[in-house]
Amino acid sequence: MAYTAEIIAVGTELLLGNIANTDAQMISEGLAELGINVFYHTVVGDNAERLTKAVEIARSRADIIITTGGLGPTYDDMTKQTVCRCFGRELCFHPDILEDIRLFFETQLHKPMPECNRQQAMLPVDCVVFDNPRGTAPGCAFEEKGQHVLMLPGPPTECSYMFKNRAMPYLRALSPDTLVSHSLRIFGIGESHLQELLKTQIETYENPTVAPYAKTGECMLRVTAKAASREEAEALCRPVVDEICALLGDAVYGIDVENLESVCLSLLQEKGKVFATAESCTGGLVAKRITDLPGASGVFCGGVVSYTNEVKVGCLGVPWPLLDKHSAVSRPVAEAMAKGVRRICGCDMGVAVTGLAGPKGDEFGNPVGRVFVALATPEGVFCRELSLGKRRERVRNAAANHAFDMIRRYLSGLEIEHV
Ligand code: ATP
Repeated sequence: MAYTAEIIAVGTELLLGNIANTDAQMISEGLAELGINVFYHTVVGDNAERLTKAVEIARSRADIIITTGGLGPTYDDMTKQTVCRCFGRELCFHPDILEDIRLFFETQLHKPMPECNRQQAMLPVDCVVFDNPRGTAPGCAFEEKGQHVLMLPGPPTECSYMFKNRAMPYLRALSPDTLVSHSLRIFGIGESHLQELLKTQIETYENPTVAPYAKTGECMLRVTAKAASREEAEALCRPVVDEICALLGDAVYGIDVENLESVCLSLLQEKGKVFATAESCTGGLVAKRITDLPGASGVFCGGVVSYTNEVKVGCLGVPWPLLDKHSAVSRPVAEAMAKGVRRICGCDMGVAVTGLAGPKGDEFGNPVGRVFVALATPEGVFCRELSLGKRRERVRNAAANHAFDMIRRYLSGLEIEHV
């Protein structure tokens, strides 16, 4: 039977809405990878009484309790003391940990360790210490009557490092089974349609399990198998991954890949092709997303943010009569932008995006969310007309996704205008 976990984030700033609980998000993703079910996220302020209540409740319903935050040296950092009180466990002094903290101050922060940091070397009796190369607060884990308690620091870089490199191996060792999971990334099939297509697999498959995850503007499925060895778990996953790929066809754009742009980057590198962008409503988002990736300089030469008609005409050479006749949000203008940027950059492909991200439509009767994405190639120009909804951010993200999907499909020899 799978373990259940509860994550308790400690920090008044989380309750005030000053920061988002990104630690819990990151931990939940990691626990899903380990096959551990997360049933509750709790957020509690820096208050011993309320933290005690939260821990007691978590204790009554979870096998694994993971706290984040409150491991610092200041008066409001009381996670260790409070959690240990709940479990009737003493804290004890670890001289070696104090030395690590002192060294961190001297080598990383270039100052002597303040006296108050001594208390970070106080950890629960009989715990596994998680050292913290990213900061001063060590984390820890202990077991109490079959329940496991893990305490991690709040700062996201520290929390994420410690969770992935210390807590995940600790949790993995709790189960004799090896888990293998593969993520299938899907573009062009909506979430509900996907659930319908894969109803049997999602609802009835037990080993491996098939679980859908929502992602902005696309879908992801995770296939997870449990077995005595990695090879056996892989062998259980493989036929199910193949079955899903056969059902969804080329909507599956990658397995265990980061995102659409990283798939494009690999394809562009493989084929030795370079592209340029002409963006209106996405304001440079396509260029930003490709240049977020190391290696982009070999496949992307540049882009024009042609927000106004003057720039579309002046920089990209879109003819005025085309704009007057069809409006900036039209297939002929998108195609002219793509051809224009390909010509001025002298590269293999030009990608153009023009549309209405909202909140208002235009005087030509184009509604919010209408977007044209065009791809100019040596074989001709391809264009998609899209209806991407009413939310500005969503429209822009989805438009950028379509731009990358068109590049991917072109380079993979697939039908390009198909949505
Ligand atoms: P420190 O040594 O910095 O005091 P700590 O373990 O005591 O570390 P907190 O003081 O609770 O952690 O939080 C430090 C900072 O980490 C917060 O100001 C906040 O910016 C960030 N942080 C804390 N908890 C979370 C969380 N759950 N998600 C994202 N960021 C967080």
